[in-house]
Amino acid sequence: MYDVAIVGGGPVGMLLAAELGLQGVRPLVLERPAVPSGESKAGTLHARTAQSLDRRGLLDAVGRSSGGSVNFHFSGMFGLDLGAVAEEGASIVGSPQAWAERVFARYATALGAEIRRGQEVTGLVQHDDHVVLTAGAHELSARYVVGTDGARSTVRRAAGIPFTGTPARVAALMGDVRLLDPYGVPPGYTRTPRGWIIVWLDPAGHSRVTTYDFRAPHPDRRAPVTLAELREAAERILDRPVPMAGPRNLSRYGDAALQAGTYREGRVLLAGDAAHVHFPWGGQGLNTGLADAFSRAVRRADELR
Ligand SMILES: Cc1cc2nc3c(=O)[nH]c(=O)nc-3n(C[C@H](O)[C@H](O)[C@H](O)COP(=O)(O)OP(=O)(O)OC[C@H]3O[C@@H](n4cnc5c(N)ncnc54)[C@H](O)[C@@H]3O)c2cc1C
Repeated sequence: MYDVAIVGGGPVGMLLAAELGLQGVRPLVLERPAVPSGESKAGTLHARTAQSLDRRGLLDAVGRSSGGSVNFHFSGMFGLDLGAVAEEGASIVGSPQAWAERVFARYATALGAEIRRGQEVTGLVQHDDHVVLTAGAHELSARYVVGTDGARSTVRRAAGIPFTGTPARVAALMGDVRLLDPYGVPPGYTRTPRGWIIVWLDPAGHSRVTTYDFRAPHPDRRAPVTLAELREAAERILDRPVPMAGPRNLSRYGDAALQAGTYREGRVLLAGDAAHVHFPWGGQGLNTGLADAFSRAVRRADELR
């Protein structure tokens, strides 16, 4: 019997495993893909996360920090001076999510966590003093289960926890592409009456292109994104040709704001996107989840002692 089984080895699950390890608990992490995807959706850590990581001695391993005055944004609205809130250390840290996740996984393993990849959890049953999880053909028991398995959380659904809020009203697309006329596209954030486009330019390689269409949400949030769709969205917003090729990591999302009805149901807990989602631009998706990991681990470890 495990003390804690964490379902989902994304950034939040891996950091939670490490934080529990620091408290003397050795959790099991069950992660669906056999090999990490390497895809980074988020790339920004904010001051509070940076401070917490610094106290663990992890900040330098995770990313590059900038101190002092930093002009940043909330959901694309610029004008926030992050330097004003960073009394201790970095105000903002650039850290691709896939890299941070790898650092957290290494740290968790060193602290005694067991990480099993290629394990998809499909169901759970709660008992008075433990929870039984089904992963493939296997069953395993843990005193507590934490669902850090993302917005479409199987754990949340299996525990019967509702996920409600406001639906998406806008449509965002994201992808890494080779821009065939890289200097014909404005780098950084561009806002036009037709929407927003963000281009993190790598003229010789893959640039990250994100579009934000104000007109309506995606009719089908799960439909695969095509290169033609991303290109059409970029060209409509910029009102000029944006030739592109070699797509990678194409995805669609929106600004739905949903929250779990409770973050704990019996012996099942939720953290990260499994517990709350909202428009993620600017790092509030990843950072709120990492804050869950920092705070929840301490409370759970107290209960286990
Ligand atoms: C297109 C896009 C762009 C984004 N941009 C930003 C941004 O700019 N800034 C920002 O802060 N945030 C951004 N986000 C949000 C951010 O990526 C998430 O908030 C963050 O990934 C949440 O981490 P998590 O660990 O809670 O969940 P996830 O990263 O979703 O990880 C969940 C993990 O659980 C695993 N899993 C799922 N189901 C199961 C199962 N049944 N069994 C076992 N394992 C399972 C998955 O394989 C995955 O590894 C973006 C999100 C999207 C979709």
